[in-house]
Amino acid sequence: MKYVVVTGGVMSGLGKGITAASTGRILKNKGYNVTAIKIDPYINIDAGTMSPFQHGEVYVLKDGGEADLDLGNYERFIDINLTSDHNITTGKIYKAVIEKERRGDYLGKTVQIIPHITNEIKERIRRIARDSGAEICLIEVGGTVGDIESMPFLEAIRQMLAEEKEDDISLIHVTLVPIDSMGDQKTKPTQHSVKELRELGLKPDIIVGRCKKPLDKSTKGKISLFCDVPEAAVISAHDAADIYQVPLQMEQEGLSDYLMKRMNLAIRENNQSWA
Ligand code: ADP
Repeated sequence: MKYVVVTGGVMSGLGKGITAASTGRILKNKGYNVTAIKIDPYINIDAGTMSPFQHGEVYVLKDGGEADLDLGNYERFIDINLTSDHNITTGKIYKAVIEKERRGDYLGKTVQIIPHITNEIKERIRRIARDSGAEICLIEVGGTVGDIESMPFLEAIRQMLAEEKEDDISLIHVTLVPIDSMGDQKTKPTQHSVKELRELGLKPDIIVGRCKKPLDKSTKGKISLFCDVPEAAVISAHDAADIYQVPLQMEQEGLSDYLMKRMNLAIRENNQSWA
C-alpha cells in the first residue's frame, strides 16, 4: 500500500481537498487503483450534527454517513464510492479508544495520546486503506498545520513516515502564495508553514502553491531554496475557472512526473485518457 498525505498551511479553505482529489485522479489515470481518506480534526463524530451555516452543506455517502464535501470531490474526481469509514474524526478516534479503555483492553495502562490515540489513528488508516482494495490511499489532514486539534493526526503521520518504506509514503503540503500591492508573489507564508511542519518532524516532498496567478519561475525558485524541495516539486495551483480543470493544470505542472518518480510508480498499460 502506498500513501499520499495532503496537509495545508497558512489558512483553511485553501484547496487541500481539490489537491487530494486531483492527485487521486492523476494517479488513477496512470492505471492505479486509488482510494481516499479525509481526516477532520473536530470532536464531532461526523458532520451530521453541525449547522450548515458553520460547516456548509454535508455530503451524504452511500451508507448514509454525512461528511465533509471533500468526500464528494473524491468520489466525483476519482470515480469511486466511499463510506463513512473514509471520514476519520477526532470524535470517532476518542470514542473507539474510550470504549476499549472501558472494556479493559489496555490492561491497566495509563491511556495517552501517544501511543494509544496515535495507534488508533494509524490502525484505522491502514485498515480502511487495506479493506478498500486500493493500491494508493490519499489521506487529507483537514485544518491547518499548527492547529491544536490536528496535532495527534500529524504525529500519527510522522510515525507512519518512519514505519513505512521511503517510497511508500509521500507528503504534499498546500500553502497560500499571496500577491502584494506591487503585484509580487510572496513566499514568506509558505516558508513559515513549512517551518511549522518541520518542527513536527514532517518534511514535504511536494509544495502546492495556491495563488491567484500561475507561480513565477522566481517564486518557485525561492520556495525551492527556502523550503528545501527541488524546483520540480513546487506545483502552481493558480485559480482555475472550473475546479475540474485543476487535475489537468497539476498534470501540466509536472505533479505526476515528480510524485511517481518519488514513489517508484511506473505508468501502467491500462492508463486512461482524460476524456
Ligand atoms: P480545503 O480542503 O483546503 O478546505 P477545498 O479543497 O475544499 O479546501 O477548496 C476550497 C475552495 O477553493 C473550494 O470552493 C474549491 O472549489 C476552491 N478551489 C480549490 N482549488 C482551486 C483552484 N485551483 N482554483 C479555483 N478554485 C479552487
